[in-house]
Parts: sequence; C-alpha cells; structure tokens
Amino acid sequence: MVRSDSTREISLHGLGIAPGIAIGPAYLVKPGVESVPYYNLMPDAVADELARLEGAVAKSRKQIDRLREKSSALPQAAAEEIGFLLEAHASMLGGSRLMRGITRRISEERINAEAAVVAEIQVIADSFAGLEDSYIASRAKDVREVGMRVVRNLIDYTYKAFSGVPLGSVILAEELTPADTALLDPARIAGLATVLGGAEGHTAIMARALGLPTVLGIAGIVESAHTGDTIIVDGGRGIVVLNPSPEKLAAYREEAVALDKERRTLKRLRKLPAISRDGVTVTLRANIELPSEAANVIDSGAEGVGLLRTEFLFMNRRDLPGEDEQYQAYRAIVEKMAGMPVTLRTLDVGGDKLAPAFGHESFSSDNPALGLRAIRLSLKEPKLMEAQFAAMLRSGAHGPIRIMLPMISRLEELRLARASLMRVARRLKRKGVPIADPLPPLGIMIEVPAAALSAEGLATQADFFSIGTNDLIQYTLAIDRSDEQVAHLYDPLHPAVLRLIQMTTQAALTARIPIAVCGEMAGDPRFIPLLVGLGVRELSASPPKIPFMKRRIRNLAVSGAVARARAILEQPDSASIAQLLDEFNAGEAD
Ligand code: PEP
Ligand code: MG
Repeated sequence: MVRSDSTREISLHGLGIAPGIAIGPAYLVKPGVESVPYYNLMPDAVADELARLEGAVAKSRKQIDRLREKSSALPQAAAEEIGFLLEAHASMLGGSRLMRGITRRISEERINAEAAVVAEIQVIADSFAGLEDSYIASRAKDVREVGMRVVRNLIDYTYKAFSGVPLGSVILAEELTPADTALLDPARIAGLATVLGGAEGHTAIMARALGLPTVLGIAGIVESAHTGDTIIVDGGRGIVVLNPSPEKLAAYREEAVALDKERRTLKRLRKLPAISRDGVTVTLRANIELPSEAANVIDSGAEGVGLLRTEFLFMNRRDLPGEDEQYQAYRAIVEKMAGMPVTLRTLDVGGDKLAPAFGHESFSSDNPALGLRAIRLSLKEPKLMEAQFAAMLRSGAHGPIRIMLPMISRLEELRLARASLMRVARRLKRKGVPIADPLPPLGIMIEVPAAALSAEGLATQADFFSIGTNDLIQYTLAIDRSDEQVAHLYDPLHPAVLRLIQMTTQAALTARIPIAVCGEMAGDPRFIPLLVGLGVRELSASPPKIPFMKRRIRNLAVSGAVARARAILEQPDSASIAQLLDEFNAGEAD
C-alpha cells in the first residue's frame, strides 16, 4: 500500500487548475454518509427500488473503473496493490453475497435500498467479527467500503458544509462535485486536491472562481495522505507535495509571498481602463455563480457580470427556488453592480451540474452532456422557465440586465424562448409589476458546434452572442471536459475550434450584434491576443483572472494581434498555432 510513513516527502503530479500556492494541514474528506434513510416499500415499488439499486451499482462500478485506470499511473508496487484492492471491490458488485443479501432484503423485507445495504454490511461484518485472521478483517473493511460507495450513489445529495474543517486546511478527496465545491469557503480553506476531475469541468471552474489553489486528477493522493499531514498545493504547476522537507517548505513560502506581492501590484490596475497600446477598448466582465461573489466582481475591476450561472442557486438544496427567491438573488447582484450590466443566464442544469431538487430521473442518461441539459430542460419545463424569466425581468427594474440562453443549437429554441419571455413580460405588465423597461436584450451562448456553424442565421434573431469555449471545445473535439483521462486532448488551439470562433465572431460583426467570449479561454492571457485579433471586444472570466487579463490587454498592440490571428488561421495544426501565438506573446512581454 502507498500509505506514507508521514515523514517522507512525496511529490505527486496532476492538473494545475487554479494558480497559487496553498500550504496547510491536509483534511481528507472521507466519503461517508451522515444519515441513511430507512423506509418500507409498497409491494408495487419493489421493482423500481431494484432498478434504483442497479443504477447505483452501475455508477459505483464506473467510479471504480476510473480509479483503477487512474492508479495505473502510480509506481508499479503501489499500482498493483491498489489495483488488487479495486478489483476486489469491483467483484463484490457482481454476484456476491453482499449483493444477493441486499437484493433479498429489498424484495422480501421490502425496505429501501440504502437501508438494505447498511443492514447487509452489518451482518457480514458481524459474521467476520471474532475471527482473528487479518486477511478476513480487511475483507470486512472492503465490504463496508463498497457498500458505502453504493449508498452514496443512492443518495444523490451529500451536503458537505466543510464547516468542521480546521482553519487553513487543504481539502483532499477522491472527487468533489461542483455543488460540493460551491460550499468551500476560501476564507477557511487554503486549497484543494482530488484524484478525479478534468481541467474544464464545473468543479474546476468553481475552484477558480473561489481563487483556491487547486490540483485535480492526482493519482494516489487519497492513499498517500493522512489528515493533519503538512501539504503544499502548487496550483500553477499542478504539483502536490506531501510532508515537504524544510528546504522545500521555505522555497514555497518565499514563492507564495512573491505571488501575493504580484497580486497586490495588479490590484492597482483596478481603476484603469482595459485599453490596448494602440487605443482599442476591450470590455472585461466577470463570470460568477453565486450572489455572494458580487463583491469580488467590484473588487476585481470588472465592468459588470458577463455570465451568472444561475444553476448554482438550484444546488445544495432539496426544493427549487421560486420566482420570488430568484428575484431577490438577481436583484441583489444587479444593485451591487450599480449601473453596470448583469448577464443572467437561464438554467444550465444537466451534464456535470446536477441539482437534487430535480430528482435524478430527469437526468438518467448514458450521455448526460448530450442529454436534457440547459435550454432543452427549460423548454421542456415551461413553468420553470417562466418563473426564471419573471424573476429576471423584475430584477431588471433595478438596473441593466441581459438575458442569455445556454446550449442553443437551433433557431427554433431561441424563438420559443423569446415568445415565452414576451408572454411573461406582458403578464407582469398587466399586473402592474415593475420590470425592465425597455425589455432586456436576449442573447445566446454559442457553445455547440451547430450553433457556430449556423451563426449567421442565429445572428438575425439573437440580440448578442457569447461564446462558451468550454463546451464548444468539448463538443467539437468530443472530449469530456470533466474527465481527467482525456484532459491532455482538450485543446483550445485546435484549428477546428478556432475556425468556429472565427465564424461566430464574423457573423456577429456582420449582423452588428455584440460578441463576447465567456468560456475559460477568455480568462487566460495567453489566448487574449488571438480572441481580440479575431474581433472579440468583450471577455468574461472569473474575478481573480480580471487583473491578469487587463495587464495583457494594456500591453497588447491589436493591429499586430489581428495580423497574427490571420496567420494562425492558416495553420494546419495546434502545434504550429501554439508556436505563432507564443512567439507573439513573448515579443510583447514587458
Ligand atoms: C462554456 O461552456 O464555455 C460556459 C461558459 O458555460 P459553462 O462553463 O457553464 O458550461
Ligand atoms: Mg457551457
């Protein structure tokens, strides 16, 4: 086993997600379940319960497969050890005594699946108790681990408030969902490292928004660390150091101080405009998930909100926020922006963003990223969409807003959504409820290749475009943005991606509608000359990125960027594109 002897320094590599250095005690998130529900089933509910169990077992099997895949990157001895263990876990999910017992309890005792699992684990553990054989003792532990994995997958809401975590801890976990990540308080938590998770998934995005130094996709971290171990998370380089030597600790402390100094220097740019060396203005706005982030927007120097991911209001709760609650949340952000626009995106639930309040039936799909996600769900649930439009329109009475639709792939979706928005506006006006006047612009995300390819047509009906490069790259290259196994293939500089960005930008410029980029590409100073060179004049990214983006724009000669973008579009592959881009950036470095 790769359990550390708690004094030896170990360096592990993963995906650097959010830059910065965190140094603190490790806090291992034990995948536990605080309370397991127990209830009896009606006779006609047994079949559904067995199907629910089957779904959770299939999910558990998939997780174990991914962990096995991941552990193969470890040194051979450790890989073998973990491999055996996970293989044993996987086989217990087959026709084992555990599974037979659970199935029998559901069918015969007619109790819910979670309760059946817990009861069966207990019986097996009791039958092993008293045997002194250490092999058998460890088998009993495995039965419990596998059983609790199934229970976790049966209970789809695991509210981990992390409130009991000691101040300044570094969170280590097998995996954190975007909803769990949204609960991390950067004032209490120093950093984050997990075994699973890709660089552009919503867990990564949330970690960046919180400004938490983060490394995802690190094999062996959970097995190697103990709660309380000293740990360094180097989010820029994608390195985690466990039990660092005094020399390494001192070097990292020094670097952390230097980074802090750089950040403070950049803060001075806050009040300066984002104008290039040759006088071109680029509007910088912020992406946020929660109303509590609104203060960070102002602090960062962004000119309003370019993307509010409203789906985060629907997470970590069992009920849906109604119109009034949403109105209060949007209004708080609009008021905080004091006249700067707020772009409110309608629900983008689905894919890797699940909200238990919808129940998992809505998302039971083998391909959730291609399933009932975003605008598709809104159009299927008109009441949900109308409540959201009503809340948004009402918040627009307090300051400028824009409404944005995610995952549009056809004109019809925009037409239907606009018709719904107009109906809601008429109803509110009839009732004398104050709403945005004139009605706010209704724009769309361009994040599905079909939308980029038909951008000309969409531009005739949309009031603005915002390119969501995270999904556009995922769908163009067929790379799951949350899967660390294919993260190395996730390539913003692929010629196909750039061609789609260029087509979209051209269509918007020709139709004279505003065009923004709000995917993660917008927040990376390396890509800014390319996006601006292609004609984009509005960029939106998480607040901590804004000062770095502004610095890049203030050093940029847009005329040069335009010529370089033209040359880049003629390249056959991303290697030559990267070379042209990096040369350009190096030539402008101060
Ligand atoms: C995107 O896809 O680029 C985007 C901004 O939306 P999200 O990351 O919420 O899917
Ligand atoms: Mg998206």
